[in-house]
Amino acid sequence: MAARNVMKGKTGDWLAVIGLEIHAQIASHSKLFSGSKVKFMAPPNQLVSFFDAALPGTLPAGYQITQQRKPIASNGHLLFNVYDDVKREKPRRHRVNIKQIQLEQDSGKSLHDEEKQQTLVDLNRAGVGLMELVTEPDMSNGKEAAAFVQELQTILERIGTCNGKMAEGALRVDANISVNKPGEPHGVRTEVKNINSVRFVKNAIEYEIRRQIDVLESGGTVVMETRSLDDTGCTIPMRDKEDVLDYRFMPEPNLPPLVLYDDTTINSTICQEKAINVDTLRRRMPELPEDQRQRLTEDYGITYSNAVKLVNEEGLADLFEQLCTASSRKETKRLINWCLIDILKCLHQRNLTVKQSPIPVEKLSDIFSSLQSGEISAKSAQKLLELLFDGDSRSVSEIMDVENLRQITSEEEVLKFCTKAVNEEPDLVEVYQSRNKKVINKLMGIVQMKSKGRIEPQLAKRIMEELLERRRRR
Ligand code: ADP
Repeated sequence: MAARNVMKGKTGDWLAVIGLEIHAQIASHSKLFSGSKVKFMAPPNQLVSFFDAALPGTLPAGYQITQQRKPIASNGHLLFNVYDDVKREKPRRHRVNIKQIQLEQDSGKSLHDEEKQQTLVDLNRAGVGLMELVTEPDMSNGKEAAAFVQELQTILERIGTCNGKMAEGALRVDANISVNKPGEPHGVRTEVKNINSVRFVKNAIEYEIRRQIDVLESGGTVVMETRSLDDTGCTIPMRDKEDVLDYRFMPEPNLPPLVLYDDTTINSTICQEKAINVDTLRRRMPELPEDQRQRLTEDYGITYSNAVKLVNEEGLADLFEQLCTASSRKETKRLINWCLIDILKCLHQRNLTVKQSPIPVEKLSDIFSSLQSGEISAKSAQKLLELLFDGDSRSVSEIMDVENLRQITSEEEVLKFCTKAVNEEPDLVEVYQSRNKKVINKLMGIVQMKSKGRIEPQLAKRIMEELLERRRRR
């Protein structure tokens, strides 16, 4: 057992066991079995058909439909990166087995009005399609569980089956947690329900592990129960799982079976119109995040850690590749930094995702090409980004002309700026000539200020030195 998994208690070492149940809302415009719309933040009960409300006369009604007994997929696994030591860039790959993925309906939501002492029901979510993914208890700390959720989120976003937005409840995590002493069987588990951020997944699990160890070490017992995470980061009991007796599962008579087949069974007797060919879907799948990370390192020679950063920001890796193809001279290192630092900064400041960016790739490519050729400085490139992100519709070259952003590259013109500075600052020139060469930096500062930072510093410095040298000899 790796040392990283061992937790210290007053009575010795402890191990923790974690399994996750994740509800991911299926990215669909309508509910699973009705035509009602699915929308986040709609006013209460605006997206409810008679069927969703289970009014008499609508079939089937009044209970949750789930594929629990015959899940759409089972016995899978997910490999993902865990960064045990944040300072070490190289992650460890960890494998978690996935017991099953099943489709089911989401439920309505009750809203408690403390003041009026009443409970109201919002059925907007009733009947929305969810995929529930159940893992085996293959994780041993909060960090691993959080990394699992993050990778799953990236995959679901990529394949477009769930938008992954935890804050909007589109991805919700229930964490099952137990602790035991090394060499002993798994302990009794508790389940922390409805965790809605990756960070909370880690924190809630760490809190719950510590709590269980404390309970056991002080002579108590852990009871099997569901708990929720409160505002202070503590887990508190919700309802006793043992009280939830019998769900009374029964086959739903109104639903025809969902038949899956693959290329090898294509000629069998299955009615192909009603069945789903898994291999066809597989062929339509986009490149998965980890495949893309590996390919980016091979195709562009970038570091794995940069590939991770590009891929984990939805849409950024694709943008990087488009810009790489568009720019003739592939200065990938500079381009990576431009994507990861400059472009991301503009997006984050405006609360935008890469996909929501208002700037067409061609314009970004124009800016980067100008930066690469030395036509504009990094500062001007940043200014161009800012203008375009704020809705400027002019072409890049028009903005460069009108806003005077092009670098001054003609030596003659640079000399003019230098001469002007030297004429205006005879005292600095005198200090430079007689005792301190460092004051050249002050003169350079003046040149940059007057030229609005449009002269490449090396060029400006060389010309200034030559000018001062000539003056001395005069
Ligand atoms: P049940 O059928 O009783 O609901 P499952 O075997 O389906 O239980 O497990 C439900 C969830 O609890 C799964 O995510 C699983 O990984 C997790 N789990 C099972 N045993 C433990 C344990 N001892 N500690 C932590 N998690 C566990």
